[in-house]
Amino acid sequence: MSEVQPFPGATLDRCGLNRQHVFNLADLPPEVTTTLGDTTPYCQLILIGHGGRALWDSVKKSGIGGADPIDDFTLRTIREWMSECQPDSRYAILYPGPQPIALQRLGALAGWHHAAPFMVGIDGEWGTWYAYRAVVLADTHFAPSPAVDRSSPCVACQDKPCVAACPASAMAGGVFSLQKCVAWRKQDGSTCALTCLARVACPVGSDHRYCTEQLAHTYSISLQTIREHY
Ligand code: SF4
Ligand code: SF4
Repeated sequence: MSEVQPFPGATLDRCGLNRQHVFNLADLPPEVTTTLGDTTPYCQLILIGHGGRALWDSVKKSGIGGADPIDDFTLRTIREWMSECQPDSRYAILYPGPQPIALQRLGALAGWHHAAPFMVGIDGEWGTWYAYRAVVLADTHFAPSPAVDRSSPCVACQDKPCVAACPASAMAGGVFSLQKCVAWRKQDGSTCALTCLARVACPVGSDHRYCTEQLAHTYSISLQTIREHY
């Protein structure tokens, strides 16, 4: 039986991949494991995310360009990190990749995810300024991470400025209307083409809010998806 090791996250932290959670595959619920495909010969799932602006700064410094420099930087960093700290471990990076993975479900299990009214994940430390960057299967023996214990900041938010800030009234009536949001974003010259005004209006974790360039990068990708699928 292999010895349990502490998770060596310092290298990832330094480049802004600063949220990490280790699951034993055997502890994951079936609705998650069925999205992972054949998990042989792995025994752990490592969920990696970023919080705040540090990852974007690292991507810019790396000089990586192309259509999705964040994904390319993340993949390169994880491969280098695994070869440095776990050279004998087998691993597979499932995300980024073509396979649909239950990221928000994993985030909820890690304690990272609560749904904001505009259906982006939120937590009390980072606000909405975090995202899932990688899902790695590995035959590692890291100590499993305890779930973060933070309740949704939306519960105590009386004024809910995000609701009033949405120009499409997509949260009017207490339920998010994806249809209204998409219709607003697709308009020529939309005020939400490259941002979400509701997200920007939320005061929680505002110190970690993305810079304009990172926001534009993130929302240009989602706008492209909207144009292709709606
Ligand atoms: S403004 Fe309030 S309700 Fe809206 S996302 Fe932020 S904390 Fe939640
Ligand atoms: S992107 Fe714009 S329209 Fe959609 S929820 Fe955010 S503020 Fe509302």
